[in-house]
Formats: sequence, structure tokens, C-alpha cells
Amino acid sequence: MPTINLRRARKAYPGANSDAVPDLDLEIADGEFMCLLGPSGCGKTTTLRMIAGLENLSGGSLDIGGRVVDCPDQAVFIPPEKRELGLVFQSYALWPHLTISRNVDFGLRLRKMPAAERDARTEEVMTALGIEKYRDRFPSQLSGGQQQRVALARMLAVSPGVLLLDEPLSNLDARLRLEMRAELKRIHANFGTTIMFVTHDQWEAMTLATTIAVMSEGRLQQIGTPDDIYERPANRFVAEFVGAPPINIMEMSGDMTPLARFARGYLTQCLPGVNNAASMAIRPEAMRLLAGTASSLPEGQFSVPATVSGVLPTGGSWIIELQAAGQTVFMTAHVAPTLKQDEMVTIVMQPASLHLFDANGQRLHDADPLLAKLAA
Ligand code: ATP
Repeated sequence: MPTINLRRARKAYPGANSDAVPDLDLEIADGEFMCLLGPSGCGKTTTLRMIAGLENLSGGSLDIGGRVVDCPDQAVFIPPEKRELGLVFQSYALWPHLTISRNVDFGLRLRKMPAAERDARTEEVMTALGIEKYRDRFPSQLSGGQQQRVALARMLAVSPGVLLLDEPLSNLDARLRLEMRAELKRIHANFGTTIMFVTHDQWEAMTLATTIAVMSEGRLQQIGTPDDIYERPANRFVAEFVGAPPINIMEMSGDMTPLARFARGYLTQCLPGVNNAASMAIRPEAMRLLAGTASSLPEGQFSVPATVSGVLPTGGSWIIELQAAGQTVFMTAHVAPTLKQDEMVTIVMQPASLHLFDANGQRLHDADPLLAKLAA
């Protein structure tokens, strides 16, 4: 399977004030399941369309499998049909007048594959996607989710080196979406296809991807495994975009809340070498609550008194809203909390779960091992 390389890729749409993608370096390795994740308008679809050849680059270059397929400086542009990529978009236009099996074997007929081989391949892919029982039906006789699977089968039948998917599950209801995610993971495992999947849904990206590339305003913010993205966000944007309820932030510069001043004091005392932290953050599930005012805690732990201002059941888990030294803080619980409104509690934050960022919002990676050592 080919590796895809975007180097200093730029896309300027005619008449637009700014570049949709100003300067993007991105490599999608063989066999990777990469999710491009970011808010609406951040350039995900543009990036996918540049790879597909549906948009040409305004600058930089694109290689697929070591071959330059788009480079304005070299006047190279290989059209989409010669890039051997499979594309599935949000709308999955099946041929309405062809049966399901004819839809699935469409690409194989175009390639003039011998009939026996073609039928065997069609059967193999339809069985893998659980649509073999619909082979003689027409698309209008299938549900949206079944049609989606046919669209995927049609793509997989021709064994594309790379599958490009742009929010392909967004039309499906929650249950089907979940089933299709599992399906896509199986496809990836069984067929070894390199997949690039565009989504603005963080859970979709976390559940599917081997690698997530987070984008904002046309720029790559971080690329890494789902764990990297969640556990070690490279900057404030990634930290705040990924996670629900969102990560709790203590702004330790300018007009500080009393909580942020506590945080500042904690860092000064416990990590005197780290003096460029402008904000400290912690995920809602990384905090622990103790009843009342805690008298003794292991050295190095960061704790603050708080009052309970809300308990929100979310079906199987709970979001707890707390007022902690002038700031609202959210935490999550997976067992039913016995907390009462306005109850006094102590929030305990494990140092290893804290994230520190500088004044530009960039992660202070050097502080991570120091935090991990505290109260270890
Ligand atoms: P969404 O999740 O909403 O689809 P996206 O992250 O995929 O968003 P793009 O569709 O790539 O974002 O758009 C990136 C930027 O380029 C946006 O500001 C958008 O308005 C602009 N844009 C996209 N297509 C065109 C076009 N054909 N002409 C001009 N501007 C465009």
C-alpha cells in the first residue's frame, strides 16, 4: 500500500481572503487508519480532496507511493482516476437501476476482470460486509446504513490502496453509526487498507483511528495515537477540543481566580524549576473527591476545597459540577455519587494528571516527568 506525503501543501480558493490550508506537512503511512479531526471549516475536507485529486494544490507537493501526483512548481497533476484511491463521501451515490451485486462489482467490470474472479471477489466483499443477502435488491430497497455498506463494498471490491472517507457515517442514526465504526475497524484489520477518515466528531476519531491528526484553521495542531492526543495534548487547542466534559483549565496569568493562584503557589512550591507555566489543566475524570476538608494528604498532591453545585446524570455516569475557589470545575464519576447540593468537599488532583502550558498555549513537555515524580 502506498504512503501519502503532503509537503508544504497549500490551498487557496479563488476569491478567498485567506488560504484554506496555508502550509501542511502530513504523512499517512502504509496501513494506517488516520482520522483528520477538527472543527467545521478547519480544512479537513480540503486536505482530503487535495489527496483525492478533486482539488489541485496551490503550492507544495503531494506524493503517493513515492510518485509525485500534484506539484504546481513542477506542473504535475495526476487526475483522480489515475491515483488508485477509493472515495466514499457523505452522500454515497449508488446506481439506482443496478442491483446490489452489480453496484458492488461495478468497478471490477470497468477493469474487465474475468467473470469467475470478479464474482468471487464480489462475494468475498459482500460477505465481509454482511450484505450478501441483499445481492438481488435495488438500492432503494435498502436502509441508509445498508446502502452505506454497499458503497463501502463497492470501494473495497477494487482493492484500493487507500480509502478516503469524508464523514461517511454522518447520515446514520447512533446505533448504526456504532455498528459501522466496528465494521470499518474490521475492514481495516482484515483488508490492511490504508484509511483516511475525515470527521469533526472526537469520539469517532478516538474509537477508529490508529493515528489522529488534529487541525485548526488549516494548520496541523498535533498528530499522534488517540492516547497521545488525549493524554498528552500538544497545545491548549487540542486539550480543549478533545474531551467531554471539556478539560478544566486554570489560567495562571493576568486576572487569576483564587483557584489559579492556588495552582500557581503549588507549582512554585513543588516544581520550582518550572516558572513559565501560564496555565494548568486537568481532565474531569482525573480528579478525586474527598468528603469535607481533607486534613492530611500525601505530599506533592494538589488539593483544593470546593462545594458541589450540581450532579448531572448522563446515563451510566455522572458529571459533577463544583465551585472551587472562584471557578467552576467539572469532574466525572462512574459510580452513583452520594453528594448533596452545596456539600463541602476536597478535590484532589494527582500531579501526574496535570497538564502545563506556556503563554503561547504550547505544552511544557519538560514538566511532565517532574509532575509524574511528585507523590509517585
Ligand atoms: P466541515 O467539517 O464543515 O466540512 P472542513 O474542516 O472540512 O469543514 P473545508 O471544507 O476544507 O473545512 O473548508 C476550509 C475552508 O475553506 C473554509 O473556510 C471554507 O469556507 C473554505 N472553502 C471550502 N471550499 C471552498 C470553495 N470551493 N471555495 C471557497 N472557499 C472554500
